[in-house]
Amino acid sequence: MKGNWLLQRGIVKFIILNLLVAIAYAFGVRLSHEFATLPASVASVWFPSGMTLALVYLLGNRPILGIACGSTFALTLGLLKVTPQLSVLNLLLILIACACGNVLQPLIAACLIKKFARHRNIFSHVNTVVLYIAAAIFAPTVSATLGITSLCVTAVISWNGFGVSWLTWWLGSALPHLIFTPPILLWRNPSQQHLQRNLWEIAVVMLSLLLVSWIAFVNGYPLAYLFLPILIWIVFRYGSFFSSLFVSVVSLIAIFSTARGHGLYIEDSPNESLLLLQSFMAVMSLTSLILSAVIDERTEAQLSLKQAMENLEAKVIERTVELQLSQSQIDGFFSSAPIGMGIVDRNLRYVRVNQVLSEINGKPIEDHLGRTLREILPDLSPHLEGYFYEVLETGKPLLNRENSSNRLSKTGEEQTWLASFFPIFDINDVPFCVGFVVVDISDRKKAEADLKRAESILRKANLELEKLVNIDGLTQVANRRCFDQRLELEWERLCREQQPLSLLLFDIDYFKRYNDCYGHQLGDDCLTAIAQTAKQVLFRPADLVARYGGEEFAVILPNTDLDGAFTVAEQIREAILDLHIPHQNSDITDIVTISLGVTSLLPNFTQNQSVLIKQADMALYRAKQQGRNQTVIFSA
Ligand code: GH3
Ligand code: MG
Ligand code: MG
Repeated sequence: MKGNWLLQRGIVKFIILNLLVAIAYAFGVRLSHEFATLPASVASVWFPSGMTLALVYLLGNRPILGIACGSTFALTLGLLKVTPQLSVLNLLLILIACACGNVLQPLIAACLIKKFARHRNIFSHVNTVVLYIAAAIFAPTVSATLGITSLCVTAVISWNGFGVSWLTWWLGSALPHLIFTPPILLWRNPSQQHLQRNLWEIAVVMLSLLLVSWIAFVNGYPLAYLFLPILIWIVFRYGSFFSSLFVSVVSLIAIFSTARGHGLYIEDSPNESLLLLQSFMAVMSLTSLILSAVIDERTEAQLSLKQAMENLEAKVIERTVELQLSQSQIDGFFSSAPIGMGIVDRNLRYVRVNQVLSEINGKPIEDHLGRTLREILPDLSPHLEGYFYEVLETGKPLLNRENSSNRLSKTGEEQTWLASFFPIFDINDVPFCVGFVVVDISDRKKAEADLKRAESILRKANLELEKLVNIDGLTQVANRRCFDQRLELEWERLCREQQPLSLLLFDIDYFKRYNDCYGHQLGDDCLTAIAQTAKQVLFRPADLVARYGGEEFAVILPNTDLDGAFTVAEQIREAILDLHIPHQNSDITDIVTISLGVTSLLPNFTQNQSVLIKQADMALYRAKQQGRNQTVIFSA
């Protein structure tokens, strides 16, 4: 049901359209005859042609029936007046030929334009305008050939008049294509309409149109070229629609006045009149069409250029914002970084410096910029320049280079920095700047130095402690504790090595008397002198003198046999004699003497070191008994 209704609606619309087209066509024919210039009712312009091309171009095949009917109706009226009366067959032949011609003409033109035009706005581009003109001129050749041939065949006109009639038909049909079709096609193109213009300007243009029309077409002065500046003005100021409308209006005025026998194109020969009129209209319309297209093309180019510029500008703004953002990120990074940062160029001139670096260098940021490293850091530059040049040359970074300055920090410490240098490359990948970061490690350095100092103090304290633990406070030789440890150690070692271990024990003779005679202070001095003397006699690092107790001393001689031990004992005894420490209460002599007991053993695991002590003690006892101031070797 719905489909049917739609179909019916479509049919009704089709019928109304074609009816209107037929009426308009017939009216156009009537108008053409109204303004016919030649006596034989040959119109200077065939108005319906202008309409049919526009209709077919805009609506396609739909108005074809109306065109055919309108053309047939109008022609029938005309042909009925022809004398002698035409036969029905001839009439039909002419009607069919003309209807075909009048239908084919707009179809061919529209088809050519649509097929070959590369732009939708055909009047805005020179190449499509040229195509339009070519199609508009070519299509009427078909209708003219069909129409005039049928008229000749049916003897309405003689074959002699074929050429002139064909030309008149062709021109009469082609001209409306150029004059009246463009404003119809451009009617709905809003971009072509420049209505917001000064009213005064429009008034002046209208007045000029009327004035020049009056001069040329009423008074007949040969000043029709005065239309050209007006036309050019309209093209430039109002665009293609109004310029084509202007051409249409001027053409109508020209046709009307010429048909009424006025104006500059009235000549003796009607043919000449017609030709002049038609060429005037052709020049006007072609000028309008081509000039408008050129201007439109230029405007379009300008617009697209403007658009491109705007796009470019927008891009530039966008990029600028991005750059500003990244710049402010870098600036923020630079200024907020808690380490010194800077950039120098190839000539080692500061390009950029952050606050921390300026504080490290002791100069404001502004003082750095443009100055060389040498100017800013004369004391450090000989050392630092090498790093920068190396980075520029190799393009490789240098990391964690330590630098110290003679300048002292606020706290009076020597300042030390850790610096890393890295290349910054240009677009050709060549290093053109050096960036660097500097960290003040003075505090760390101070801590390290403090640690070293503390370590050395600790070492000393350790030594002191060791001394306290192992050294006898009075005589400064090993104490009993040390002696015991060493003897045990050597006993075990020589057990393994199966080497002899010897031990001396010596005691100062009549030392009680010495003390009694010279006092305890001199007694102490004597003890110290004897201990140091005994120590000086020994030359092997492994030998050890120890205070065994009171005024008794022991000497450990590892890897020493009995003979060797006896020799050492005698050397000690003699060295002490050589001291010549006075001892007036000694029964032996008037100087201090000592008695020594010597023993030597090949240590073994079945015994321990105490056996050595026992033997040496026994030998010492014997030495005392045998008269003192002597060395006695232990014997069982
Ligand atoms: P002998 O020849 O038999 O060894 O006789 P002597 O007097 O040396 O022997 P005695 O063992 O009777 O005396 C040892 C003395 O050594 C007793 C003490 O006054 C003295 N003496 C021990 N240790 C020290 C000391 O550290 N300083 C001083 N000044 N005298 C000491
Ligand atoms: Mg004693
Ligand atoms: Mg003694």
